[in-house]
Amino acid sequence: MNNTYRQPALADMPLFTKDERDAISRVALQYPMRVTSYYLGLIRAPGDPIYRQCIPSEEELNDDSGQTDPLREEEHSPVPRLHHRYPDRVLLLVTNNCAMYCRFCTRKRNISDRTTTITDDEIARVVEYLNRHEEVHDVLISGGDPLTLPVNRLEEIIRAVRTVPHIDIVRIGTRIPCVDPGRIDAALCNMLKKYHPLYVNVQFNSPAEITFESQRACAMLADAGIQLGNQSVLLRGVNDSSEVMRELVRKLLAMRVKPYYLFIPDMVKGTGHFRTSLETGYEIIRSIQGWMSGMATPQLVIDLENGGGKVPLSPDYVTGHDDGLYSFRNFENRLYEYADFRACHHQR
Ligand SMILES: *Cc1c(COP(=O)(O)O)cnc(C)c1O
Ligand code: SF4
Repeated sequence: MNNTYRQPALADMPLFTKDERDAISRVALQYPMRVTSYYLGLIRAPGDPIYRQCIPSEEELNDDSGQTDPLREEEHSPVPRLHHRYPDRVLLLVTNNCAMYCRFCTRKRNISDRTTTITDDEIARVVEYLNRHEEVHDVLISGGDPLTLPVNRLEEIIRAVRTVPHIDIVRIGTRIPCVDPGRIDAALCNMLKKYHPLYVNVQFNSPAEITFESQRACAMLADAGIQLGNQSVLLRGVNDSSEVMRELVRKLLAMRVKPYYLFIPDMVKGTGHFRTSLETGYEIIRSIQGWMSGMATPQLVIDLENGGGKVPLSPDYVTGHDDGLYSFRNFENRLYEYADFRACHHQR
């Protein structure tokens, strides 16, 4: 095991009382805890957005809502570790290991099962599957966190995927630039840039996560020619306000990361205390769209239960249409009209 990460010694943490430590340990028995010392150092007060994301809460044990595998990921898996849910792209889960176990994680059920990282045999089966499926053009490498793998192991995986001629792009989903930014180094960046076109989707949920260190990590990846996108999760008590999300997307763009998705949290058992209303999500999008750079607006999405897949939730700017006459509400809530001559019968 890599020893960059350490399980924090709870007794060392002045942040917690003995009762709090006992509660944390109780929850961690069911849902393991792990946090980097870097991320722990970003906590400013108990219950703040950083704290909520990494410190176990008793609310996790008291949650009767949700399922352990709401996305039915286990059912769209033609070969181990590969999920083929959408026509032209696949999700490849190369490890169950993460630098930090986010308390709201969708894969709470299998994260931290450290025995399982992808084997040579599994890589061979994945490549064989991809070769047979010429409709697949995009391989999204995720986990767990792929950047917890040693650089040479990650390279073996990417190189194997790149032997398949019809794969256009490789994407990596990772939280490392946010939770352990020191791990983004020249060796990693020099390896990654050999496999362009390569996209990296990071996950920042709070402006408090954007630090000198995480800015440096993203700059190194961007300087290696990697397109960076951000996938946030909408989390109660972390980023469920327009003010916070506006600050976050502005800081992301300033460090060359394009806000990509804002996820409604999945219906995962043990994460109910993080859920907000969908209306909060719409409100946040409306407070960005038009008010800030067009680059700043993420797509609000919900990953439907029972394997329905991702569906965009877009605030409606069309207020109605009648015989080719469309009415709109703009970002300032003013009304406008547009005559669609191709659809408008009386105009012919
Ligand atoms: C999210 C996801 C993808 C990638 O989706 P994009 O919308 O293209 O980012 C691919 N496969 C699975 C199973 C996914 O859950
Ligand atoms: S880094 Fe991603 S996969 Fe790992 S615990 Fe956090 S949300 Fe889950």
